[in-house]
This record gives sequence, structure tokens and C-alpha cells, in this order.
Amino acid sequence: IKKIAILTSGGDSPGMNSAVRAIVNTAFKKGLEPYLVYEGYLGLTNGNFKKAEKSDVKLIGSLGGTVIYSARFPEFKKVEVRKKAIEKLKEEGIDALVTIGGDGSYIGASKLTEMGIKTIGLPGTIDNDIASTDYTIGFHTALDTIVRSIDQIRETTESHNRATIVEVMGRFCGDLAIHAAIATGAQVLSTSERKLTEEEIIKESQKARKEGNRSIIIIVSEYLYDVNALAKKIEAETNIETRATILGYPQRGGRPTAEDRILAGRMGAFAVEKLIEGETGVAVNIVNNKLTTKDIMEVVSMNRPNKDELFKQYDLIK
Ligand code: ADP
Repeated sequence: IKKIAILTSGGDSPGMNSAVRAIVNTAFKKGLEPYLVYEGYLGLTNGNFKKAEKSDVKLIGSLGGTVIYSARFPEFKKVEVRKKAIEKLKEEGIDALVTIGGDGSYIGASKLTEMGIKTIGLPGTIDNDIASTDYTIGFHTALDTIVRSIDQIRETTESHNRATIVEVMGRFCGDLAIHAAIATGAQVLSTSERKLTEEEIIKESQKARKEGNRSIIIIVSEYLYDVNALAKKIEAETNIETRATILGYPQRGGRPTAEDRILAGRMGAFAVEKLIEGETGVAVNIVNNKLTTKDIMEVVSMNRPNKDELFKQYDLIK
């Protein structure tokens, strides 16, 4: 391979820029020509890319978001659209692509592999919902944001003798919620893996109050409840004054933590090395602090690891 393109796709996550920087710099060191693709698969299809210069990536490693932008581009599921993207790559003589994104982005990459482009995927998502890797790029930054926010919410909740429901991101994967609950000592936790009924949440809140807690923090994953309605219900049934806070998009942004920058940097450099060694159609993972690759389609179809141990520890700690 001589020329490699880099894109970020799907939900942005802090650390994506650190990965782009690592890929570009490693490519230059290895004598390759890196290209930056703007707006993910949308830009790939429209030929919205340019040759990278060292100066493009010099100062981006500490920034949140993705400086090469992302896009949702469902049209990429159509083979005619992907053919157009491949033509654009061929016109420029690009033979390989690094995709930084989540599950959906991985599927897009694997489809391109079938059509003759060498690809490698990096897990860029705050949700930590890629089963083959212990951690995804952005997870720890989002977790820190959540923990800081809950610490602040705890102070006002304690001051006012209240309960607060905090809704966090992570639709199908409760890692953000579970880890945040362990880190903050939240008294109630509900995620897609262990969803409580509204009645169970009410009972647990009452129990927490009986145990002498002035403030009660209830962490729930997104899409499980109407949290404002639930707050009213808890208040009506328990007499505990209850508020709801949806943390929302601040969870996605912010400067990547050192941990995410390092993970992104290591994965980025490793991805370029693996492409040079001839690997294609694979995703990069970190497993027990070792970098590995695994077939992308296998990654996408893997079941997420069982969370029983984390839940057990949370139950002991809270
Ligand atoms: P994420 O990568 O974070 O899971 P999405 O699921 O939105 O986010 O996927 C990002 C992009 O990947 C989509 O907008 C689309 O361009 C591409 N993509 C997703 N699924 C497929 C698919 N089945 N075939 C081809 N491309 C896909």
C-alpha cells in the first residue's frame, strides 16, 4: 500500500483526533501518504478528501469532537453508493482506509473490504459497546464527564434532601451507567442489562432513604424511561422530593483524558503497522492491555461480555 485514507464516522467521541494524529504521523514515518476524509462515508462518496500534511494534525491530539467531522450517511448501505466511493478512492490511487467509529461504521468498512479496498477499524464511541475490545476510544472521557456531573448533582441533592434521577448515554450497553454508579456511589442503577421496573426504582429509593441517605442518586441509561414522569411518580409515591437530569450531549464532548489519548495513539499507530503487514477487514482492540486485531464482521456479531461481576461489585459498594 502507498496511500491510506482516514475517516471518522458515526457518533463522535473524544480521542478520535488523537487517533487521526497517530495514524497520520505513523503513515509519514512509514513512507505512506495519508489522506484526510471529511464527514465520514459521506465525504468518501463525494470525494471530499485531501492529502494530509503534518501541520494538519500537529495540535489536534488534545481536542474533543472530530476535526475531520462525522456524518450519518445511511445511503452508504446501497452498493451503488459504495461503488461511487470506491471510484473516488481509485481516482486518487488510495488503496487502504482506516475507519474510526462504532458498529455501523465497522459494517461500512467491511462492505468496502468485500469490494476490494483494504480496511482497518478503530473503536471510536463513548458507549464502550464494541464487544471485542475492553475499552473504546472516548469511553473514559465520557465517564469522567458523567462522574464530575454527578458529583455536582450530589451536592445540591444532598443540600435539599432530595432524590435525583440522572440519565446517561449508552443505549444497548450500560457500561457508562455501571461504571459511573460504582464511581459515585449512586444508590439506584438501571441499565439495559439489568433494567428495574419503575416500582423497583421506587422501592430502592425508599430503602435508600430508610438507610439514612439524605441524597439519593438514581442512575439510568437512556431510552429506558421518561425520567421527568418517573421523578413525579417517585415523589408522589414516596414523598421524597425528586428531580430528573438528562446529561445529554456534554457527555460526548470535551478534551480527551490522558487515558483516551494514549489508547487512541497506540491503536492508531498499530493500525497502520497492521495494514502494512497486509491485514485487512479487521478491527483493532485492546484486550488485557495488549493490542489485537479481529475480523470486523466477527466483531460486529459478537455478544457483549457479561456484566455480572460489575453489577455484583456495584451492589456491594453502594
Ligand atoms: P456508529 O458507527 O457509531 O455505530 P452508525 O450506526 O450511525 O454509527 O453508522 C455510521 C455510518 O456507517 C452510517 O451513517 C453509514 O454511513 C455507515 N453504515 C452503517 N451501517 C451500514 C451498513 N449496514 N452498510 C454500509 N454502511 C453502513
